[in-house]
Amino acid sequence: MKISVKTNSRTQMIDITSQVQQAVSSSPVKNGLVHICSMHTTAAITINENADPSVESDILETINTIVPWDNNYRHMEGNSAAHIKTSLFGASEMVPLENGRLVLGTWQGIFFCEFDGPRQRKVNITAIPAG
Ligand code: ZN
Repeated sequence: MKISVKTNSRTQMIDITSQVQQAVSSSPVKNGLVHICSMHTTAAITINENADPSVESDILETINTIVPWDNNYRHMEGNSAAHIKTSLFGASEMVPLENGRLVLGTWQGIFFCEFDGPRQRKVNITAIPAG
């Protein structure tokens, strides 16, 4: 299964929890694991707090400080910072699935992390049945 995510700035976190839940709900798998994977080299997936939007902005401000956009990188495309951030965050996450519902903590959400937007992006979702 694939979902589309439209981003509208260079660096952005977008809560995709409900889109992932919707995709999984149309799958015959009800119990197991859900793999959520970014299909890009400059965009990642992470799980973090989706209650206070300040958490998102703190994460983004901090990662932008740790990995500045300009730093005499060699990569000709000019977006090495986005590649580095993507590897630091990771391309995918796994979430347990119980009775057709994603098992997440009260404050947890699944975020698509854009590091070289704005772009139209794709996320692949695989529901793996429990053995
Ligand atoms: Zn590049």
